[in-house]
Amino acid sequence: MSKITFIGLGNMGAPMAKNLLSAGLSVEVFDLNPNAVAELTALGATSADSLTQAVSGASVVVTMLPAGTHVQSVYLAEDGVLNSVNPGTLLIDSSTIDPGTARQVAAQASAKGLSFVDAPVSGGVAGAAAGTLTFIVGGSEESFAEAKNILQHMGKNIFHAGEAGAGQVAKICNNMMLGILMSGTCEALNLGIDNGLDPKVLSDIMLQSSGRNWALELYNPCPGVMENAPASKDYQGGFMSQLMAKDLGLAMEAAVASQSSTPMGSVARNLFNLHTAHGNGEKDFSSLFEFYQKQSNR
Ligand code: NAD
Repeated sequence: MSKITFIGLGNMGAPMAKNLLSAGLSVEVFDLNPNAVAELTALGATSADSLTQAVSGASVVVTMLPAGTHVQSVYLAEDGVLNSVNPGTLLIDSSTIDPGTARQVAAQASAKGLSFVDAPVSGGVAGAAAGTLTFIVGGSEESFAEAKNILQHMGKNIFHAGEAGAGQVAKICNNMMLGILMSGTCEALNLGIDNGLDPKVLSDIMLQSSGRNWALELYNPCPGVMENAPASKDYQGGFMSQLMAKDLGLAMEAAVASQSSTPMGSVARNLFNLHTAHGNGEKDFSSLFEFYQKQSNR
């Protein structure tokens, strides 16, 4: 069976790789964190000592890395993916990064006869575990069709946003919206609590009213309101505040380049940057709720 190599086994990558294994595919994994690798090899994945070895002979490589610098080094370094795979290998990057880096990797891959798609995801850790992610793909029609065969094992909705980089553009628009919605949801819940409301009752009301949104519905930021949300697990797991700050930074860079007005995104970016700077970078992004809370209510 042809080999799929999965690189980056963090909060998102680990459950995504598990779904490829569950689909009966042959998966080789690579991560700098040996514990993350061990979790997957215990489930039947193979592993390698180096990135070069891990991707050698693969028909597909999937990466799920924190940011553009990691993607650049994994793909473009001397001993990186582009110099280590066979011609014809399909390369799928599902990290959320700047569209410019995605286009740069796509162009260098194409020069070597390799297909590359940017395929960032939406749906969070729960969606990754359930195999219900939304994939937002940038690349040629042919590469998209090829990638879809693999992505369908990890996601439910697979969109072709356009040419190389278009997946990342759509993703950062979405995450700017999410950052704004999460900030607004924290703000509204905290206002209710400060004025004597039970956050669960207020959440139920807003869920049936015009303030309804994804953060409120599936990711309530107030501890105790939603049993399985990161807020009820001391804001562990999920989507780190520093990653949301990164994505809002990407949105602002795109806005500067296109001279677009993004006042709400700019406020959200500053909120998440402040929150991260105050030592909350590794907590789930819904922990922004604590930023609004009076010390006496914590
Ligand atoms: P994470 O930090 O939990 O995982 C990243 C993994 O990459 C880590 O295991 C790390 O060891 C590994 N890594 C870093 N550099 C590496 C290298 N050079 N070689 C091999 N492995 C390397 O991050 P995450 O939450 O899984 O997010 C990954 C990407 O997905 C980010 O771009 C993020 O913005 C995006 N994303 C995250 C979520 C979410 O809810 N967590 C949702 C949608 C998109």
